[in-house]
Amino acid sequence: MGAGRELFGRRKDGSELPVEIGLNPIHTSEGLFVLASIIDISERKQAELEAARQRNELAHLSRVTTLSELSGSLAHELSLPLAAILSNAQAAQRFLARGDANLAEVREILNDIVSEDKRAGEVIRRLRLLLKKGEVQQHSLGINEVVQDVLRLMRSDLVNQRVTVDIELAQNLPTVMGDPVQLQQVLLNLVVNACDAMTDCDTPERRLLVRTGMENGSSAVRVSVTDRGGSIPEEKMEQVFEPFFTTKAKGMGLGLSVCRTIISAHQGKLWATNNPDCGATFHFSLPIDGSDKEVVITDN
Ligand code: ADP
Repeated sequence: MGAGRELFGRRKDGSELPVEIGLNPIHTSEGLFVLASIIDISERKQAELEAARQRNELAHLSRVTTLSELSGSLAHELSLPLAAILSNAQAAQRFLARGDANLAEVREILNDIVSEDKRAGEVIRRLRLLLKKGEVQQHSLGINEVVQDVLRLMRSDLVNQRVTVDIELAQNLPTVMGDPVQLQQVLLNLVVNACDAMTDCDTPERRLLVRTGMENGSSAVRVSVTDRGGSIPEEKMEQVFEPFFTTKAKGMGLGLSVCRTIISAHQGKLWATNNPDCGATFHFSLPIDGSDKEVVITDN
């Protein structure tokens, strides 16, 4: 039958039910027998569905909370292109009023307006995706795009907090299967936490490093977010992932526990390490798309 296949049985009334079948050979003096057990797993499937539904509710709630904390910067991110559109449009009006409109200049102004409008549209599109409570998607996606999307969305916030971001994205990374919104949410949380950890640092020290690459010797990609804030006491290394653990005055302590649930649901891992000099690094790894076909890629 093959392992891990979804199997269905049929009840007397003709309806289908999910089943798990175990076959065990038994060697006896009378020959080979096979013990077959057929287990109705409808309730387990139902419980799994319910757990997934609750996980998604919580993930959505936590996402909306994180975004509401960023709302000031997001409004700013929108007001920039709007201000540029207004000043460009006013310049065009002035040209026209003077009656000596230079067509080439007006064309350039209109091009600027179009590109600024697109920029604002992009911010809105990304926000809507994150705020929406949609079905969890399973897409084959590039992790570098997830990183770039999140950093673009957070640009104003990072500027406001005077955090410099270094980005090291490995080229030609294999894709992973996942929900783009939930993976963005994980990264958003890690970046927000890293910035929070650096609020007491001097401005030149507020550096964030976001890195992607292959997980050494395994068929998984890894994303790491490194900050230069305070380190995490060794005994708290696991505790930070527990729900409601927070050291922040206004923290809820849900971010990392939700992130871990999301990454586990993607068959990945999320963990933290302290850096040798200062600060902490949060890493997550995700199996590459099709890694069940036993593709193993090493880092070199
Ligand atoms: P919250 O941000 O609401 O506190 P989280 O679950 O995201 O909730 O984080 C839990 C705790 O983990 C934080 O309060 C902080 O003590 C610790 N933590 C998270 N990220 C970092 C980091 N980059 N550096 C140091 N400590 C961190």
